[in-house]
Amino acid sequence: MNDVPAAALPPGSVIGIMGGGQLGRMIAMAAYRLGYRCSVFCETENDPAAQVCDTVVAAPYDDFAALARFVTGTDVVTFEFENIPRESANWLTGHALVRPSARILEIAQDRALEKTFLNDNGIRTAPWVEISDEESLARAQEMIGQGAVFKTARFGYDGKGQAMLHSPQELSNAWDSVNRARAVVEGFIDFACEVSVIVARGPNGDIECFDIVENQHAHHILDVTISPARISPETTRKAAETGRGIAEALDLVGLVAVEMFVTREGDILVNEIAPRPHNSGHWTIDSCVTSQFEQMVRAVCGLPLGTPARHSNAIMRNLIGDDAHGWRKILESPETKLHLYGKSEARPGRKMGHMTRLFPKAGEWSPGEVETALKNWV
Ligand code: AMP
Repeated sequence: MNDVPAAALPPGSVIGIMGGGQLGRMIAMAAYRLGYRCSVFCETENDPAAQVCDTVVAAPYDDFAALARFVTGTDVVTFEFENIPRESANWLTGHALVRPSARILEIAQDRALEKTFLNDNGIRTAPWVEISDEESLARAQEMIGQGAVFKTARFGYDGKGQAMLHSPQELSNAWDSVNRARAVVEGFIDFACEVSVIVARGPNGDIECFDIVENQHAHHILDVTISPARISPETTRKAAETGRGIAEALDLVGLVAVEMFVTREGDILVNEIAPRPHNSGHWTIDSCVTSQFEQMVRAVCGLPLGTPARHSNAIMRNLIGDDAHGWRKILESPETKLHLYGKSEARPGRKMGHMTRLFPKAGEWSPGEVETALKNWV
């Protein structure tokens, strides 16, 4: 269905969410607060989002009969993750108003397509080469001198399908280990820090941009988000401009999260984009006038976008695996807000929840403030 600018979908409309994880859960929670209803398409009936939605369709993502049941009665369909099969996204487009579009999903699903899209729009990334045959493998092997990172083109997240490369042989081995599936090799960036921005764009082209935040990873999974990022005003401006430029180039209706490396010279290189709410935006629930989830609901329903203004500085930490068992201690910590996702089993590496520490100011961090707060936190 073409995304023609139409009247806003009023409260009471039904938002269909593809994906049952914590992002879908928090989209639904924001939607219900504004008077919307939600239907979720997910793999199992007890998924985090299924626990909070009116209607649950639990089936594989390529079950077209189930997709048909799902779209019946939904006013708009959105996504909480990008790895929906292309055929399913295209089918949905033929049967429902889909925001963001299946085309955006396709770009974000494939690292080679994504980097081509970014570079074609004048946005810088790490140098990269796609590997699809022996010839491109040889070209990629020449890049490894300064250190490089191998990534599968599709279905990678949280470091899955990735390897650090130090030699041409390691690249051959890495490629063999994924059965020679399409992949990319990127130059290793000795970054000063990693930052991200979340940008919302409505059907009428209005754009709002959350503050630039700083992200620290542990074992390839986001560990901590610090808002605002401790970067110069000039780098902040460049990062926001990059995010806005991407939202426009995508002709986005919804949210896009843009993960970036800040080089030691203060330049911005985009690592990846995700056309949905993002883990590095969870702090906005407690620290902004409008959360990323509410903003997404506003964007896909064609409502006026909210102000993303930050009223408190924040540090968000993910609760991975057994971390979530510390919930009692976290609840006793003043200025810390706890969010648990309703997952019954705390497997290692699984995102079980997050906590956000609020600082009663919205300004620059003082030297050492973040480190001290992190050291003394629960
Ligand atoms: P990704 O799955 O692409 O988001 O990568 C996960 C994490 O691996 C990033 O957040 C970085 O910390 C690190 N990483 C990925 N690509 C590179 C690169 N080209 N240079 C340096 N670090 C990288």
